[in-house]
Amino acid sequence: MTAAPLPEPSPGGASGDGWQYCAQGHKHWGLYGAAGLLVRSGDLVLLQHRALWSHHGGTWGIPGGARHLGESAEAAARREAAEESALDTGTLVETARFVDDHGGWSYTTVVVQAGEARPVEIRGGESVEFRWFAAPLLGTSEGPELHPGFAATWPRISAL
Ligand SMILES: [Zn+2]
Repeated sequence: MTAAPLPEPSPGGASGDGWQYCAQGHKHWGLYGAAGLLVRSGDLVLLQHRALWSHHGGTWGIPGGARHLGESAEAAARREAAEESALDTGTLVETARFVDDHGGWSYTTVVVQAGEARPVEIRGGESVEFRWFAAPLLGTSEGPELHPGFAATWPRISAL
């Protein structure tokens, strides 16, 4: 008797698009968890203005989305950012990572460093624009209205 083999990791495999309940009873996007890419350049942070039709539309957050079956958080974060912007994600070096684990579902923020804060054009229909913000402005009344998920994790991420 041998145990049933585990499913092979397959980047680009089964889509993780769908809602999932975590152990805390929240409903989250991403059957296998989700991941996002936080791009920093010095004291600047690149944020995505989310399309009005999207979940929490009109707020500012980081590009990201559902992980595919067997896809690493880093691969998912880079893939989603590349789908939603013209950013060359392959050249960005990871400097930190934050996992918000809810039990049965997690959101991984992959922090990368960009050389220069160049303008970033949008791709796909999930964004209105990308814009660089001074990090100290985020979460203050002077700053943009943040996506609730990003707003909740930003104080911990900014301290990394
Ligand atoms: Zn949760």
